[in-house]
Amino acid sequence: MSALTLERVSHAYGEIVAADDLDLSVEPEELVCLLGPSGCGKTTVLRIAAGLEPLQQGRVLLDGKVVAGDGIDLPPEARNVGLVFQDFALFPHLSVRDNVAFGLTRLSAEARRNRVSATLAQVGMADHAGSYPHRLSGGEQQRVALARALAPQPKVMLLDEPFSGLDVQLRHQIRDETLHVLKRSGAATLMVTHDPEEAMFMADRVAVMRAGRLIQVGAPTDLYFAPRDAFVAGFFGDVNRLDGTVKDGRVATPFGPLVARNLDEGIPVEVLIRPEGLHLRPAEEGDMPRPGLARVMASRMLGRSSLVHLSVASGPDRELHLHARIPGRFLPEENQVLEVELDRSQAFVFPVKPV
Ligand code: ATP
Repeated sequence: MSALTLERVSHAYGEIVAADDLDLSVEPEELVCLLGPSGCGKTTVLRIAAGLEPLQQGRVLLDGKVVAGDGIDLPPEARNVGLVFQDFALFPHLSVRDNVAFGLTRLSAEARRNRVSATLAQVGMADHAGSYPHRLSGGEQQRVALARALAPQPKVMLLDEPFSGLDVQLRHQIRDETLHVLKRSGAATLMVTHDPEEAMFMADRVAVMRAGRLIQVGAPTDLYFAPRDAFVAGFFGDVNRLDGTVKDGRVATPFGPLVARNLDEGIPVEVLIRPEGLHLRPAEEGDMPRPGLARVMASRMLGRSSLVHLSVASGPDRELHLHARIPGRFLPEENQVLEVELDRSQAFVFPVKPV
């Protein structure tokens, strides 16, 4: 049975539709990231699951029991979910210990003390139990917020952009720690983020949302290698975009044809190629242009990879500007001619949507 289920949830603020007939479930111990651009409705969905936003349409179930819908709308404190917000929302006048103890009213004093110590140890904050939030760094506050949410041992954790208040380096460290703490806790987690890399780092499954709708839900590899549309393909990083037309079930590209599955003959299509899908090697002597060859416009070292700007002939007098990303250091000279090999697992064909 799923730990959290949203069934046909719709929500509007006046004219603005923030959730549109949305179905989503999170399995026990699973971490699902709700990913999408700003304003697409992610926070609204999380708040509905938490009980912070009154449900307008659909149902919310925790562990198979309806907590909202069918005439029921349990308040957040009756749902036994752990909440972590972007701004941590710690109580400033309470010590770390008392912040974490806050939701443990049903335990005896001793059980409460033990639970607080164990949870603070879990997030590496045992030495700060007597401190007050204003004396803590951003990363430490985030750990306390996580401990406070985990202390009642909820079956479901709901996290809203929990790392966005932290600077880049700290964010990477804290999200790594948080992933392992959440996994050890055994809770099912729904986490909101607008950062695709963060979603792929954290999630067992990612739910991609746009304009109140779920576009695709799947494991990071599914979304990356089998995106359902150009929006999903483009959301996970820079892509090269080429125009084409379906002919004999294929689309021509300067690097050979691509199969156009389930697309009507003659329709205009968009070809998306990830920069890492263009493999480069020095070309044999020969005249430009010829199919499969590209001229280097510029090369840039980006750290873990190199980015090569290419000019590629596409038809008699048309040049395309494409990016190739090569792992490590690969910095060919300007104007060098390279042979391009296309990795077809990194290229996608979609129909051009009518505007
Ligand atoms: P962000 O990443 O920017 O926080 P989001 O994907 O979490 O965005 P929501 O905060 O759920 O999106 O907002 C969805 C839409 O609903 C937006 O257009 C937003 O302006 C609108 N909205 C959210 N809360 C309210 C509210 N209380 N009243 C009116 N409109 C709202």
